Order: sequence, then C-alpha cells, then structure tokens
Amino acid sequence: MFRQSKTVIQKLRNLRFQGQNPSWRFRSTSATERALQYQAGQKIHGFTVKEVVTVPDLFLTAVKLTHDNTGAQYLHAARDDKNNLFSVQLRTTPMDNTGVPHILEHTVLCGSEKYPCRDPFFKMLNRSLSTFMNAFTASDFTMYPFSTQNGKDFQNLLSVYLDAVFFPCLRELDFWQEGWRLENEDPTDPTSPLVFKGVVFNEMKGAFSDNERVYSQHLQNKLYPDHTYGVVSGGEPLAIPDLSWEQLKHFHATHYHPSNARFFTYGDLPLEQHLKQIQEEALSKFERTEPDTAVPNQPHWDRPREDHVTCSPDAMAPDAAKQNTLCMSYLLGDITDTFEGFTLSLLSSLMISGPNSPFYKTLIEPKIGTDFSSVVGYDGSTKEASFSIGLQGMAEEDTEKVKQIIVQTIDEIIAYGFEEERIEALLHKIEIQMKHQSTSFGLSLASYIASCWNHDGDPVQLLKISDSVAQFRQALKDNPRFLQEKVLHYFKDNTHRLTLSMSPDEAYLEKQVKAEEEKLQKKVQALSESDKKDIYEKGLELLSVQSKIQDASCLPALNVSDIEPTIAVTPVEMGTAGGVPVQYCEQPTNGMVYFRAMCSLNTLPEDLKLYVPLFCSVITKMGCGGLDYRQQAQQMELKTGGMSISTSVNPDYSNMDMYEQGVLLSSSCLERNLPDMFHLWSDIFNSPHFDDEERLRVLVMMSAQELANGISYSGHMYAMTRAARSLTPTGELQEIFGGMEQVKFMKRIAEMPDLTQVLRTLPRIKRHILNPLNMRCAVNSTPQKMSDAAGQLDNFMSNVASNKKDRKPVRSDITERPLDPLAAPGSGPSRKLITEPNFKPCQMKTFFPMPFPINFVSECIRTVPFTHEDYASLNILSRMMTAKYLHGEIREKGGAYGGGARVGGGLFTFYSYRDPNSVQTLSTFRKSVDWVRLGQFTQQDIDEAKLSVFSAVDSPVAPSNKGMGRFLSGITDELKQAHRERLFAVTDKSLVNVAGRYLGIGQRTCGVAILGPENDTIKKDPSWVVK
Ligand SMILES: [Zn+2]
Repeated sequence: MFRQSKTVIQKLRNLRFQGQNPSWRFRSTSATERALQYQAGQKIHGFTVKEVVTVPDLFLTAVKLTHDNTGAQYLHAARDDKNNLFSVQLRTTPMDNTGVPHILEHTVLCGSEKYPCRDPFFKMLNRSLSTFMNAFTASDFTMYPFSTQNGKDFQNLLSVYLDAVFFPCLRELDFWQEGWRLENEDPTDPTSPLVFKGVVFNEMKGAFSDNERVYSQHLQNKLYPDHTYGVVSGGEPLAIPDLSWEQLKHFHATHYHPSNARFFTYGDLPLEQHLKQIQEEALSKFERTEPDTAVPNQPHWDRPREDHVTCSPDAMAPDAAKQNTLCMSYLLGDITDTFEGFTLSLLSSLMISGPNSPFYKTLIEPKIGTDFSSVVGYDGSTKEASFSIGLQGMAEEDTEKVKQIIVQTIDEIIAYGFEEERIEALLHKIEIQMKHQSTSFGLSLASYIASCWNHDGDPVQLLKISDSVAQFRQALKDNPRFLQEKVLHYFKDNTHRLTLSMSPDEAYLEKQVKAEEEKLQKKVQALSESDKKDIYEKGLELLSVQSKIQDASCLPALNVSDIEPTIAVTPVEMGTAGGVPVQYCEQPTNGMVYFRAMCSLNTLPEDLKLYVPLFCSVITKMGCGGLDYRQQAQQMELKTGGMSISTSVNPDYSNMDMYEQGVLLSSSCLERNLPDMFHLWSDIFNSPHFDDEERLRVLVMMSAQELANGISYSGHMYAMTRAARSLTPTGELQEIFGGMEQVKFMKRIAEMPDLTQVLRTLPRIKRHILNPLNMRCAVNSTPQKMSDAAGQLDNFMSNVASNKKDRKPVRSDITERPLDPLAAPGSGPSRKLITEPNFKPCQMKTFFPMPFPINFVSECIRTVPFTHEDYASLNILSRMMTAKYLHGEIREKGGAYGGGARVGGGLFTFYSYRDPNSVQTLSTFRKSVDWVRLGQFTQQDIDEAKLSVFSAVDSPVAPSNKGMGRFLSGITDELKQAHRERLFAVTDKSLVNVAGRYLGIGQRTCGVAILGPENDTIKKDPSWVVK
C-alpha cells in the first residue's frame, strides 16, 4: 500500500484518545504502573532505558530505550488497553522515481528466511485474530504496523513481521510479481504481445488516475525539489520499469537495518517480553552501521516560484468549464520543533477551518471555485512542514484574482488577527479529541509520532499535548500579536513559496498511453529472440509458482479453539423521553455524551428521495434559530464534538424484502455542554434556515466536488452498490442515496443556474424527517451522567413540535418490529419496516465509462438474510474464496491492486479494485465458484477463514458505538450469539452446499457493474447497459 502525505494528515486530524479500559481499576497493578518501575540506565535484553515519562492526559507511561549494539530506537507506550500494537519504521529516502521503497515494502512481505512460503503476510491475515495488519510507504519512511488483542497472536505476528523486514527472501520472482515485468499478454501464448505487468506498476497507474493525487504529488516534488521529497517515493508508473532487482536488494541492505529503525509498542502486554523477542529474533544478528538516510533541510529560495501541470478532464466535474486548481504553498519550520509545529497547525485551522475562518470567507464564499484545493492547510509529514491554500474547480481566467485574494487575506490576518472565541473553540476541540475514545488508539499514536520521530524529534514531547496547550495560552497572554507575527514571518515575509496551477488536458490520457507504449517499445526493441524466449519461460514459471498449492505450515497460527465461544454482552435499557423511545447504554465514555436519533423516511414522498443526502449534508450548516450559519458553526465548535446527519438504510435481519429507511442524527459533547448541544438540535428542528440560496450553492458545489473526486478512490464501492441495485429493495435505495445515481444527480443540481426550487424542497423534507413521531433515540454515557442526560433529552423532545399532518405514512405496507425483542408484539416501541413482497429481483449489467486506465469490477448475487441458517456458511465461504482463490487470481496473476468476495445485506458480492482486466475478472468470479464446488480445499483452509471472520466479528467496539448494531438493525446479543454458533459449526459440506445452491450458474440472480475505460468487448455486447 502506498500512503500519500494527505492521508497521513488525515490520520493526524483523526487522532483520538482512548480512555481507561473499565477493567483496569480492578487489577492490582496496571500496565501504566508497572512501566513506571523502569529506571533510566537500566539494561534489559540488549537495550538501555533512556527515559520513563507519565503522560496523564493520555493515560499512558512512555518508556524510551535504545539498542546497545545497533543503536535501534525504541518507544513503548504502556497503557491499559488490550488492543496491543507493534510497529517498526525505517527511514527510506529514495533519490529517484522508480518507487524502490514502495516495491520493497511489497516484496519483503513475499517470504522470508524463517517463513519462506509465498506471501506470509497475506496468509497471516487468516491465521491470526489481528485487529489491524498493514504496511505503508510514506515520502520518507516505511512502516509495518499490526495490532491484536491476543497475547499469543502478538508473538506470532511479531515473529513474522521481524523476519519479513530484516530477513526477506527478495526472490527475483517476487520482484517481478510485485514490482514490474515484461510478459506476454497471455503468458501461455508466446505470440501474444509483450506488456508491462506488476502489482505496484498497476497500483501507481491507478493512483495517478486520481487528479487530487497528481496535484499533491507535484506540489510536494516542486516545493522541496532538492532531495528525497523531489521524487515520487511510491513510483512514477513510467519510471518503475527502470528499477532492477539488484537495486532493490541494495536499497534493502542500506535502509532496512536496525541502525535505521524505530520500534514502537503499545498496550498492556509486558515490555520485557517484546524486547526479548525482538533481540533474539532480529537485533542480535546485526552490528551497528551508519545509515546515510538523514534528510537535509531544503535550501531556501530567495524568490517565490510558479509552475503549471496538467491532468485528465473530469467527466463528473460539477462545472465542465471550471476544472482548474491553483494553490500557494509555503515552506514552514522544522517539525522536530514540537511547539512550533503545534502552533502552526492551530494557526492553520484558524485560517481555513469552517465558515468563520478568513480563507473560507474570501475564497469559498465568493464561489470562484468548488472547494479548497485538495492539498490545503498544515502538512507536517515532511521534515520541514508546509502550508497550502488555494481552490479547485475554478476557471482559468480567475487565476490572478485568486492569487490576489490569498495575498490580501494574509495581510488582513496580520492586521486584525483572530477572534478570541475561535481560539477557544479550537482548544475545546483538542480537549474533546483527548477525551474521545477510539478502538485504534495505538495505531493513531504510531501515525501521530511517525514523522517527527523519523527525523529524530522527541516523540514523548509530542504526546504531552497539555503542555503545548498551556505554553500556547501563555504565549498568547505574553504577546497578543503572537499569531499575527507568525503569519507575518511564515507567510508574508516568506520567499520560499510556490504557486502551482493545474488544468485539464483533453489529450492527457492519450499522451499517457502513448508514453507507456513508447517506453514499452524501447524495452521490447532492445530484446533479442532469446531474451523473448526467456521472458516467455519466466512468465510460465511465475504462473506455475502462482498456481501451485501452497504450503503455509511453516507459519505460526492460532486455532479455532483460541476464539472465545461466547460474546461479551452489552446491556442496554429502554425508556422514553417526551414520548419518543430511547435506548440508554452505560459506558466508560470518559466524560463524553453521545447522542443518536434515527428518523424514519416512511412518510416521505418518493419524488423527494434523491434529495435526502443533500438535505442531510446541508441541514446542520445553513443556520438555525437566532444563529446565522457562521454563528451556528461557531457554537457547534465551542460546545460539541460535531453534529451530523446521514442516510441510514438497514435491511431486516430475517427478510430480504424488508428494510428500515431513515436518517441518523449523530452528535457528541463534553458532559458540561449537554444543554447547549440539545439547544442546537432544538433550533435545527424548530427553525432551520432555508432562505439563503448563496449559502446553499456553496454547500452544493462542495458536495458535488467531493463526490466526483471520490470515484477514482472508491470505484469498487460504486460498482458494488450499482451491481446490487436490481437485487433487493435495499440495494435500490442504496443506489439512490450513495451510488452513481446520486453522483449524477448532484452534478445536475450543481449545474442548475437557479437553486430556488431545490431550496423549496428542503422544508418539505424537513417536515417528514425531523418529526418526533418518526423518531427513536440512543444515548451512550457514563452511569453517573445517564439520568441527567435522560432529563435533558426529555426537555429537548418536549421542545420540538411534532407535525401530525404528515404523520400518515405514504405507504401502507409497514411491519412493526418491537425494539425490545422480549416484549410482546404491539406492547412497546417498535421499528417500522417497509415490506416489498412484490419486489422482483432482475439481472442487470451496467458499464460506466470513466477516464481511468483501470477498472473496478463487481458482481453481486442475491442470497439469504442474516438469521438464515446458510448465512454463516456464505460468510465463511466469502473469506475462504478471497484468501484461497480470488486473491491469487485477481491480484497475483491478474495484476489488480485487490479483489475478493464479501457478504452483507443478504448479498454475496465479488469485487476487484484498480484492475487492469474487466470482463475477464467476471469469469474469474465464476471460476471461483467452480473451485469451491469441486471441494479442493482443506480443513485448514476452513479454519483460517473462520479465524479471519472472527477477527472481524470480535474487533473492538468503542464505548461511543456500543449497542449501535442493536439500535439500528435490531440485532440483539442473542441473535449475535446464535450467529456465532452457526459460524463455529460451518463444515466443508455446508460450504460446497451453499456454493452450489446460491452461487451456481443458472440458479442465481445477479447484478454486474463495471467502472472503467472505454471497452470494446462491452460495447459490442447488447446485454450490457452502457451509461
Ligand atoms: Zn502498494
């Protein structure tokens, strides 16, 4: 996987801090207390303790160590969290565009000295109960993290990871498969043309079909042109074929060495055990080297620069005539200066976040573009940080205007500064982030410290967030112009500034294809006949290795008996507030309260359905009560952890043609702000503002742009949603709410010169949706706060007027399911589901031509609902087919980035991701069914699939989300336990049986969808609908 800097930033923004595990108070010594007993200077298993620090804000004790012989650095964060994490990161600083660190990241996972079987990494996915396993290549480091809640599993995975990173086989065949190779298009036919193949080669072609990705890559390369940030660490597709196998091995020898490594462990497992294993299995076999991987500072320019790049036109762009991007990027200070980094990232939020920020007012509201440029704000993923500001979706002739506005806005900030209330709102947000508990805290922490630590900054300093907050407050107190002076220094007076524009070029894709063809011809022409024969034979060799039955017995594994037989019960209590049903769930939420409400759409007229997602995205952003939209945004930031509404379609657990349709309200706040949060909701219910067309246009443009940008990244989701459309009533509604139909609808809205008709639609929808008669609520909070929360909710509900007029459902085919499964039918509150007994599933094949060089392919088959006895077998089957057949065929042989099968919503869905093939992949899907029906799999294969399913079923749930499955879908702990028992009971016979019954040819009702480039085979085939 290749991670671009933007994702890293999002990780940072999403950093969530998990509170205490509720069980820890009962233990005699907690992990944090035990870790406090280490002392600086102490020697443990070849390491020396350097520092032991408590970080009370985050409930952890940090222990810093170094490895005596090699100088490897180590940080342990002891915390009473069972979801333990390990990560090792290497500083990888390529100096060319061949993607060597990225290809290496893939190749080391293909087999190692102790685990020589092919692809141990992917195999471990099925032999463990890991909660996370992955590998990332960033611009200047490569990271290998995993997490698990099981101690034995941790040791197994650690062993496989250490061996992969430090002792990989790096076979030539692995390099061909993962990196690049020349091969006959059909490897079994020596007369078929030679083409480029390889997983990373295709992955990067896919990545560069995303215009946002193209832009951010150019921006970084051009802002830091003089060292490693001047090249594409993931690999530029046409430079990848310049990499040799020898170069790859050399890069490993110089960069993947303990002297260039940083180890991080997190959780409640004892540190000594980790150190012992890492020392014995890896570090003891190395001597210290002097890795020459440090990144020098970028020499400062003495005058600003400008540059221009092109991209492919976007067929989905909200306005075809406005597809330019322009932004100004500024080089900031060194990220190892923790406080400066903290200050600059706060400053960035003040400058660009939300409708009260200066750049939102000057750039977004005049509607010059659709949204901020894809790269925007503070980016601390490089050694020296940067700040970028600009627009996308703008016209070329507005270029000068945008530049002027940016310069003027900076002058205004220097002159007027920021309102105190906005600074307070931002500090409140940091407080919430520290209190909110997530399930992947260890991973967030690893990502949070990675860049700073990578350049020898102090990761512990970075964790002391309260210290930075206090220092920040003091700095503001000492000097009221503190922030303005930073803006003067880093923006106005900064000559290291790049203005980069991007415009679409109609011939962009064509030029790319031509460039690839030229590169290919150059390589092919240099080949002799014997070279070609060699290539053909190597292709066959690779194919035969890929097709061989694989022996994975060298790998450690958990057993099915290691899985907990029963689930942990989540108690909830039912009640009412103002006549509305409420589910209360007491949880250790660490001072936060979480509120949700499900509002049914049953009374909504059909013609309004397409507008519901738009309604959801604007209703909390248009102003309400006495607040205009700016004040509303300010109040939300000051008093809540966010308020949002989204569509929610939940298929019934026992009937395929029955479902609940609604919108879900979600918000959270600190306990002390509960009345303010409900006050904001009351205003949204009672007096939302629907009168500002200009405001609506801004929001519409941003939504449409976001949808258009998402297709190249989430194309498989769109293909799957479309394929399901004609199979179940739920599938049909999902397509309306979140499929290609919605994308096209939003594009049409964005193109409308006049939005008054849309504006008039919103209050009509509001009357149906935000109505207590159609609602039920859920509250998660600490036991101490629950009764207060219940009282506040009661107040809120009585403040909200119900609208009796729209009470009568438009549809008569409604079935009620009691919320409390033990209550007698009709005696208590219920969920109101729609039945569509006359729904007729039908076959449909849809093709969406897209300006991408790769395809997203999906086939979807109607099967059975959650409580059906065959559902568990289908679930296990999907995992087994993915791991044992589809992965090999679609990724390894086919060269796609990914592919597999999954179940959900009563459907069995095949998919591929960034796939060079289209209709061929459909036949691979079909062959996978034949493979199961022939029964050529082992008990071990089934057990592995079970482990893989259970690691998903048992993945940790945050206190804020406990009880939500029950609230939304009515799936109780009893239903879950029954399903669990059916999963354990799945046998080889039941797998072959369900494959034949539901997936066999002639007996299935299936839908197919492909998003991809122009396709002659499909064009000629009348069974396809081409959009
Ligand atoms: Zn990758």
